[in-house]
Amino acid sequence: MTINQIIKRTFERLKKENKQMTPDFYMEAFCKEAKAAGIIIEDCNQVQKFTKKLDKTLQDELKQYRVKTLNELVTYFIAKLNRTNPAESNAQNVALNALLKRILQTIASMHNAQLSALSTKSIKDLDLVTNASQVEKIKDNWIDFLTSYDDSFLDLLRPLGKVNKHDIKNTIENLKLEVSSENEGEYQNLALLFIASFSPSIASSVNEELALISEEIRKYPQSLNSESMMKTIKKAIKLRISLDKSHIKKMLVTLDNILEKLSIQILALIEKTDHSGKEISKIKKNLESLELEKSDDFRSAHKKLYTIASSLEEETHLLSSELKEHNEEVLEMEKKIQELEKELVLVKKASREDVLTKLYNKRALDEFLDIREGEFKRYKKPYSIVFFDIDLFKVVNDTYGHDAGDVVLRGFAQIFKKIARNVDIVGRYGGEEFLAILSETDHKGATVFADKVRKKLEISRFVHAGNKLQVTISGGIAFREEYPSVKLMMKAADDKLYKAKENGRNQVVS
Ligand code: GH3
Ligand code: MG
Ligand code: MG
Repeated sequence: MTINQIIKRTFERLKKENKQMTPDFYMEAFCKEAKAAGIIIEDCNQVQKFTKKLDKTLQDELKQYRVKTLNELVTYFIAKLNRTNPAESNAQNVALNALLKRILQTIASMHNAQLSALSTKSIKDLDLVTNASQVEKIKDNWIDFLTSYDDSFLDLLRPLGKVNKHDIKNTIENLKLEVSSENEGEYQNLALLFIASFSPSIASSVNEELALISEEIRKYPQSLNSESMMKTIKKAIKLRISLDKSHIKKMLVTLDNILEKLSIQILALIEKTDHSGKEISKIKKNLESLELEKSDDFRSAHKKLYTIASSLEEETHLLSSELKEHNEEVLEMEKKIQELEKELVLVKKASREDVLTKLYNKRALDEFLDIREGEFKRYKKPYSIVFFDIDLFKVVNDTYGHDAGDVVLRGFAQIFKKIARNVDIVGRYGGEEFLAILSETDHKGATVFADKVRKKLEISRFVHAGNKLQVTISGGIAFREEYPSVKLMMKAADDKLYKAKENGRNQVVS
């Protein structure tokens, strides 16, 4: 067959196969006709010629793509070349690495400790990879895991229901757990009890860890049954105890400080005052009652101590300033008293007047007696004395009181003074005894005077507190010329007074 015949057959084939007259289709049809005619055309075997020289894996790949024409072969190589662009392939590698890590992270969170550990380790190992053999090692770890993984633990769930090893979530959700709705209520009560047991009773601060545990127990009361929850509760109780302990420690330190200040202030107060001070006994009582009230909590004890401390502080300030003032006053008063005492000694010495009756006192009477005695001895100037003593005066005091007695004494003094002459000396000798020193008076004159006094008193009435008081008086007379000495004259007058009493009182014995 000639080449022209082959070309003619080629056109007929294209027409028959309804193909366009493109160079590729023409070449394909031409080569088929040539082959059928048993003619070997160099151009028809060009693709095989090139593919034979290729790597075996590429040859296989080309077979898959059914590359028949040279054109297709070139297109394949162009695509291949584009794919093996180094920048493109690096970006691809980075993306694949990130995807791998993401997958490993996901696996790590899939509720399996072994799987999690391996995933986490692989993520770390991937970061250190510098060559393909290191990737191989990671791969080996996973092969080890897959070949040794034992999921028989899931069989433990079988008593509780159907176990689908490919869907653990579904398996667990469909397990018949032994928590009836009745028990659920009990668990809830228990949960509240546990929460209360580890809530700090003394410490006021809220601990975050305890709050989280409480929240979890409240949400899942059934979890109380699990061993891990038991451990958590034990930990929570320990935590609560340590919180309370540390709070008590802090409170004790505060109380210690207050007590220290308090004792310092008490000591200072005691130093400045005597122990019977009202305020101190009040504070003592407060402190005693504080010890008794054992039910009181620290806070109220703290408050009480604080009140005591601050009142003590105030009291101490007040007392010390008062004491300072008083001290100065006392010092001044002491000075005045000393001065007054000195004056009193002088006044007493100089005093000649009886305070109650305003008559001369014994001192003055003795002095006058000395003077009269001097005049008597030097000028023979006569004088007499009269001793008076109110009768049964004790009865007046006993019946109407001491004040009534004083009224009588003052009343008698007025009578006594009124009846005496200017030159006569009348005075109170002591108690209810009176003395008259009568100048230029003899026995007779003295008797007249004494009787006058006695009679006047007899008819006199004194009023005290609505009572009319009446008393009598007895007297004893002595004339100086009749006796060798003053002493004997005095004794004689006294004896006569005694006689008057003996004779029945209200009389003068001369
Ligand atoms: P007699 O008639 O024997 O003297 O009896 P009397 O009660 O007067 O005698 P007595 O000596 O037993 O009592 C004297 C009383 O005078 C006792 C005493 O308390 C009282 N007296 C002395 N001085 C005062 C004074 O200053 N005021 C008053 N109210 N009584 C006084
Ligand atoms: Mg008397
Ligand atoms: Mg008397």
